Order: sequence, then structure tokens, then C-alpha cells
Amino acid sequence: MFYMETFNFTKIGLIKSCYQEKFGIPRQPRLETESISELILLPPYNDLNSIREIEQFSHLWLLFVFDQTQKANWKPLIRPPRLGGNKRIGVFASRSTFRPNPIGMSAVELFTTKLKNNKVSLLLKGCDLLNNTPIIDIKPYIPYSDAIPNASAGFASTPPNTPFEVYFSDTALQQCQQFAADYNKGTDDLKLDLKKLIIQILQLDPRPSYQQQPSDRVYAMRLYNFDLRWRYCENGTILVLELK
Ligand code: SAH
Repeated sequence: MFYMETFNFTKIGLIKSCYQEKFGIPRQPRLETESISELILLPPYNDLNSIREIEQFSHLWLLFVFDQTQKANWKPLIRPPRLGGNKRIGVFASRSTFRPNPIGMSAVELFTTKLKNNKVSLLLKGCDLLNNTPIIDIKPYIPYSDAIPNASAGFASTPPNTPFEVYFSDTALQQCQQFAADYNKGTDDLKLDLKKLIIQILQLDPRPSYQQQPSDRVYAMRLYNFDLRWRYCENGTILVLELK
């Protein structure tokens, strides 16, 4: 007799983030320091009591569902980007989004809590989550237990290299300043440094490793409500072409 136990979790909230597609999202949280995401609590969890004293914590664990990879089949072996996309390791030895249970976890910075028009939300920095990602739990990050300074992590023991310098075309710079000015006008919370965010995202080099040879191809990713377009120059720099 084969028993299968299944569990039902409800989403307690969802993330509003700048990332509108998977391509380009940093591969771990806090690799960029500038994105501002809002975790909106959903009824009946949108009770201020449920987050009472949460501001004592500078960082939180988010548990979420990889809802955009859910339907894909998982495999026991995966090829992590950090190993150049060639070497295979076990799914449980990886942070792949293709898992038997598509659950993600990210430690992110809590900036503040917010109550507006009966909407309870948390403002967060450094989320590696797609816009509208369903959140299934929030827990405080507890440094004395969660941080392990002498832990070893093999191929992932240091953050990814960021070898690129990023330049903006005149058009891109102007569009960037305009977007940030409009964005920051509409908010009294946290000010967005869009130029810094774009630089940090591109320095992480979103290209899959098999595409990392020189080419004059133009790349694009969807951020907020625009397409960020850039290319890799022969001198090893990145040029941001436009925010369309
Ligand atoms: N820190 C998490 C996620 C690591 S993978 C963990 O370790 O579990 C990070 C990648 O997840 C991002 O680069 C993005 O491509 C992908 N991602 C983010 N939100 C997603 C979603 N809702 N569905 C599917 N993939 C998602």
C-alpha cells in the first residue's frame, strides 16, 4: 500500500514587486539592495494583530510558491547557473525553482509596515520574487540561529561575480530619471533609486550561461511597466539603451 500525504496551504498574501517576468530577477534575495516590494496580506490574515511587533525584526523569511514553474515536471538532477549550466547536482542540493513541492524561501529586509485604506502590508527590500507571487508564510529572521558564519557552501560559498560596468545612453538616463521622479512623487514611503537598481540587476548578468559569449544582441526584461533594453559591448561593459 502506498500512502501519499498531501497538504493544503492557503496564500496569506501576495507580493507586489518590480519584476514582471522571470528573466532578469536576481537568483537570490538581497543581491540587489534597491528594489522595493510590498507584501499585501489577504483576508482573514490582514489583521494588524498578526504582525504585531514584527518591526522588531530587520529581516524576515518569506515562504512562497513558485507559481510560474508549478506545472513543469521536476527532475532529480538540475544544472545550477553557478556551475556554468553544465554540471548536474541533486535538486535538494540546489535552490532550483523546479522542485517536487514548488516552495521558495527568501530572507529579505523589512523596511516598514503599512496600513492604508484597510490594507495591511509590509514594505520589503531585496526580494527575488516575481510580481504577484503567492506568499504562504512569513517568519522573523533570527540571527543567533539562522546565521551560521562558519557554514561551508562549496560552489556557492561567495556571491556571484559582478564583472560589468554599466553605462546609460542619454535617452535611457533621461527615461530613468523621469520614471523615478514620477514613482517617488506618488509615494511617501521609501524612495526608489532606479538607476542604482538597474545597475545592480545588470551587473548580476541575467543571461543564461550558454549565451555568455560576445554578441551584439539586444536583451530586454520587463521591470515595472517598461521594457529595460541593454546590450553587452566589446570592451566588457553593459550599455543600457532605453526604458521603453
Ligand atoms: N530565494 C529563493 C528563490 C531562489 S530562485 C529560494 O532559494 O528558494 C530565484 C528565482 O526564482 C528568481 O530568479 C526567479 O526567476 C524565480 N521566481 C521568483 N518568483 C517566482 C515565481 N512566482 N514563480 C516561479 N519562479 C519564480
